[in-house]
Amino acid sequence: MIPPVFDYHAPASVADAIALLSRFGDSAKVISGGQSLLPLLKLRLGTAEHLVDIGRIPGLEYVREEGGYLRIGGRTREAALERSEIVRTRFPILLDTARVIADPLVRNRATVGGNLAHGDPANDHPATMLALRAIVVAQGPNGERTIPIDRFFTGLFATALAADEILTEIRIPVPPGRSGGAYLKLERKVGDYATAAAAAQVTLDGAGTFAQVGIALTNAGPVPARASAAEDALIGKRVNDAAIAEAARRAAEAASPTADRRGSVEYKREMARVLAARALKKAVERAGGR
Ligand SMILES: Cc1cc2nc3c(=O)[nH]c(=O)nc-3n(C[C@H](O)[C@H](O)[C@H](O)COP(=O)(O)OP(=O)(O)OC[C@H]3O[C@@H](n4cnc5c(N)ncnc54)[C@H](O)[C@@H]3O)c2cc1C
Repeated sequence: MIPPVFDYHAPASVADAIALLSRFGDSAKVISGGQSLLPLLKLRLGTAEHLVDIGRIPGLEYVREEGGYLRIGGRTREAALERSEIVRTRFPILLDTARVIADPLVRNRATVGGNLAHGDPANDHPATMLALRAIVVAQGPNGERTIPIDRFFTGLFATALAADEILTEIRIPVPPGRSGGAYLKLERKVGDYATAAAAAQVTLDGAGTFAQVGIALTNAGPVPARASAAEDALIGKRVNDAAIAEAARRAAEAASPTADRRGSVEYKREMARVLAARALKKAVERAGGR
């Protein structure tokens, strides 16, 4: 399939990219890995007269710990997350997530920033970043601003990014000791979007109770959002199966998936419940709680 005609721009710096986006306004789009945008253009589900490729701008691909945050450059590829030593050893929830996105070919091109900026509730990183309480860094004509992940997703395929802003970094607060997280996904076949998936991040205190909890689901509604009622159900509770089961029930209750070839609403809700419970148990295990 052939996309509509567009002009291609390859700026060498973030400032040049922002200048192009400001000049062309709504007729321009950032292209990063192209793994969501190009299919959209080819299927003619979207249009762009100008594509501003940020793929040649140096300095946007990194994963490092600094100043109390894990910092992920906006153009870091999924494959780089999978290879990252710090991700493998300290943030296994991110490895869980990256390795179930599409297939290795897509992951060699697809970027973490693009996964969030696309605003697709079927994408896997939104739930994980909600559970981790990430912060999105955006650069635009007026400089840099930070957007808490809870305010980032504003609608179906819509985010808080302005048309002339570039997502340059994702910051994840480094969790305290006795923390752990997990992301579990049910897919029809390898490479598919989630039938249901759950992200859970927990911190336990010395007495073995939940001190901090982050829970979010994938493909559970039009906008990625945290499962607040499920989180509230766990704070201050001792780790046990009944508490986890109640939190998972609340998470599924708040989900509003749509019926499609992946299953009925009832099936998806039930899978969300099962996965939320399993993700919580794995997160607790990784936090050293069991
Ligand atoms: C076969 C296939 C299977 C897939 N399966 C999955 C899956 O299982 N799970 C999953 O999560 N995703 C899946 N995807 C989607 C894809 O992997 C993600 O959406 C991808 O990570 C997007 O990143 P990208 O760099 O390719 O973004 P692009 O396609 O380049 O851009 C996507 C959107 O984000 C904007 N954008 C990108 N980067 C920035 C930035 N830095 N600043 C501002 N705006 C930006 C673009 O303007 C565009 O609107 C699949 C894709 C394919 C082709």
